[in-house]
Parts: sequence; structure tokens; C-alpha cells
Amino acid sequence: MTLRLFNTLSGQLDDLVPSDGKALRMYACGPTVYDFGHIGNFRTFLAVDILRRFLLLTGTKVRHVMNITDVDDKIIRNATAAGISIGAYTAPFELAFLEDLEALKVQRPEQLARATEHIPKMVELIQKLAAAGAAYQTEDGSWYFRLAAFPEYGKLSKKDLSGMEDGARVDVDEYEKDSARDFALWKAAKPGETSWDTAIGRGRPGWHIECSAMAMEYLGESFDLHAGGEDLMFPHHENEIAQSESVTHKTFARHWMHVRFLLVDGRKMSKSEGNFYTLRDLLLKGYKASAIRMALISVPYRHQLNFTFDGLIEATNAIERLRTFSQRLKTGNYAPGENPALQEAAKKAQADYLAALSNDLNTAEARAPIFDLVRAANTAIDQGQLLAGDRDAILSVLASFDKVFDVIQDSDAEPTRKAIEWAVQAGREADVAPELVGRESLTDEAIDALVAERTLAKRQRNFSRADQIRNELAEKGIILEDSKDGVRWKRK
Ligand code: AMP
Ligand code: ZN
Repeated sequence: MTLRLFNTLSGQLDDLVPSDGKALRMYACGPTVYDFGHIGNFRTFLAVDILRRFLLLTGTKVRHVMNITDVDDKIIRNATAAGISIGAYTAPFELAFLEDLEALKVQRPEQLARATEHIPKMVELIQKLAAAGAAYQTEDGSWYFRLAAFPEYGKLSKKDLSGMEDGARVDVDEYEKDSARDFALWKAAKPGETSWDTAIGRGRPGWHIECSAMAMEYLGESFDLHAGGEDLMFPHHENEIAQSESVTHKTFARHWMHVRFLLVDGRKMSKSEGNFYTLRDLLLKGYKASAIRMALISVPYRHQLNFTFDGLIEATNAIERLRTFSQRLKTGNYAPGENPALQEAAKKAQADYLAALSNDLNTAEARAPIFDLVRAANTAIDQGQLLAGDRDAILSVLASFDKVFDVIQDSDAEPTRKAIEWAVQAGREADVAPELVGRESLTDEAIDALVAERTLAKRQRNFSRADQIRNELAEKGIILEDSKDGVRWKRK
């Protein structure tokens, strides 16, 4: 099954297939590790995760590279203020980023690339640009890209840049939205700032050059797909194209994927607006990592998504429905055989699910047939019409759904436990929701042991002890369900 994905460069849906016939080579712009990421950032990383997982599910290998921007204006400013090296400043934020990815079940790219570890590659690229007449050095020793040397500038964002001023320059990493100017490739060292001594002088890289240099280092001069949030289309991605194609004269990335923003009350969620939540903020309020994942992926990536707490509750309930159903299927006793109507329903759900994802990763449409199937199967179970062969067919649809959505398999306890641990260390105990306190201290094994003790107490007709255990567990958010197949427990 071939994925039809919107391509910003061509302005239409294009087939996304590995051009070398082997693996899909893709580059996604990663975080600037100057602070904790907010869930807007993670919406973009999750959208790329959905892409990646769909490719893997449908049998396409991927080679996925993501950069970590560990040097930029903000990092230098903050590290200087804190009186520490940029490495010491960024390390905890990089670690937090990777932990947050794990909590949200975003698969790790095959290659993570830190900007500070690829300075020689960037210098080499700037030298090639200079040789091609596309880069020049200013009096202070900085290097700039000459926009006039790349007539195709603007082909990705389709901006009308006819009013572009020749030779006007910009050197900050935070950009004005609509001005196209010669941009910094290399910034000459300033006293007290981190810098590298190189063949093009002492200084540090501009932001854009890192992605060109690292993408080509790991994926070659021309590769399949480049992704990032919609704000990166201009100027960052436009600049990446200019820097790369001026040297190689080959198409840098054939396919460009841009993820629309996560909004809060109609405005972009961002650090500068102050309207943001980090993953940790939400975990500490008692929302589960799976619900945050589900809420962020359920609106297709090309639509803006408005963040609301109602949305998180809807996602929580949707996951609960799937998990309860999956448990019901796995633990029930079903007579042998197959019910043709359910077999047909399972086949149709699977086909509709894959078709929706292959149509520009339409996650909203992909969810719907799965929930329809759950409804039909629940009714069939109630009426005694679901047979063992149907159970297997439906479980395999759920497994395929979870290969991309990854919310049914419950591993929510760990991210919450880690967030609480982090809050305690960071002196933010006050932010931990009261209902979480004490709950995560019980391991699965400890709960199993208490449940077994309760079963024994009941068998010995020691009902007061049995009730005491049930109540103790309830206080810690553990709910027991007695069924004919024994006792099941779950975390609230
Ligand atoms: P940064 O760490 O600021 O470089 O951003 C990391 C990624 O998050 C980039 O791909 C941004 O485009 C993306 N991003 C930033 N804010 C949002 C938002 N509100 N919604 C979706 N993506 C965002
Ligand atoms: Zn980039």
C-alpha cells in the first residue's frame, strides 16, 4: 500500500516511496534544547512518528535522522547567564526531551545528530558555498549566504520575494516572518561566547547550516523526505534548500511535510506567548501519557488542532473503551467457529483503517472504523454471537491499529511515576495532583501480591481483611474487578 502524502514542494498529494528502492530516507528537524519542549513541539514529533510507523507497518524500511540543536542564540544567552558551558546547560534538556519522546511512545529515529558534533561538516559546506560564489564573509569575520546566488529561493514556501533587497542581511536565529535576506552561515566569535577555531575563522554556526550539513552527511545529497512544523517552512527550510542545492545542483529533499500548529484559544502554543503546557505539566495534573498521545495524533497533521482539557478527557475515555474491550476479548471464553458477519466487519475495519492512513495520514478517519468494530463486537459478545475465530480476527485488527496509534498496550504508570519523581527533585511537589500522591508507589508486583492476599482472605471467609485490601487499593487508584475468570485490576 502506497502512502499518498501532501508535498509542500509540489503543492499536491504525491506517492511517498524510497527512491533507492530500499529504505525511505527522511530528515526531521529536531528540538532546540534550551528548555523543556511543550506539547505543541510534540505534536510535530508525533505526526512524524505516525508517518514512520505507517511506513513500517506497510513494509517500507526507514532511515530517519533528527538533529538536536544544541547551540543557538538562546542557548548561549542562557548558559552565559547561568555561568556554565553550553554542553552543561543543554544536557538535562536533551535528556528530558528523550524521556518525553519515550513517554509519548515516539519511536527514536535511527540517527540523532547534535549540531555541536558536526561543526567540521558545516565548515566544509560553507567553504563549498564560498567556492560556488554563494557565500561571502563580512568585515567582522561572519559568513553569509548570498540569496541573489539562488534564483529559485522561495520555491518551497511559494512566497513572492520580488521585493527582496539585495545584500540586506539578518543574523539572529529568531526570524522576522516575511523578510528574505542574506542569512548567517557562520557567526564570528564574540568575547565570552562559545566558539570553534576553524578554517573559515573562529566562530559558531548559524542555525540553518546544521540541518543541510547533517542531512547530507547521513542521507546523501538528495533524499526522500524532509519534515518539520509549519513555522519552519520559511525561512528555515527555504534556507536549507538554498544552502544545499547551491552546492550540489541536485534536489535536496523530494518531499516536504509540514505539520500544522497546536493552538490554544486560537493562538499558536509557544514559549513566547506563555500559553504552553509541557508533557510533565499534564502528567502531574493526572492525565495519562497515552491520552496526551491520542489527543495530539487524532486530528490529522494538516489541520490545526486546538488544545483543550475536554480533548484530553475524550482521549482518555476512548482509550479506556479500547483497553476494556481488548481485555474482554482476551479473557472471555468463546465457542469455536467464526461468525461470517464479524469476519466481514473485521476485514472491512482493517481495510478502511489502512486506506484512511494511506490518504495523507488521516488519523481521524483511521480511528472511526476501529471504534465501529468495537461497538459491533461488544454487541455480538453480549448476544453470545462472537466466536473464537472472530476473537482472533479482531485482535489482529487491534494489533495493527496499535502498531501506529500505540495506545492500547498500557504503559502509563511509568511516565507518571517519573514525572512525580522529577517534580519532587525540582521542588514542584505542589504541582502534583492530590489523586496521584501515593498511587504510583505501588508496583505491579505489589498490587498482584495484595490481590492474591485478598483472594486468599475471601476463600478463608476473612471478609474484613478482603475489604480492607480493596479499600486500600482504591485509595491508591487501583480498581478491582471480580469476574468469573478471577480478579482483574487496573489503575484509574
Ligand atoms: P523548536 O524546539 O522550537 O525548534 O521546535 C521543535 C519543533 O516543534 C519544530 O518542528 C517546530 O516547528 C515545532 N513547533 C513549535 N511550536 C509548535 C506548535 N504550537 N504546534 C506544532 N508544532 C510546533
Ligand atoms: Zn532544520
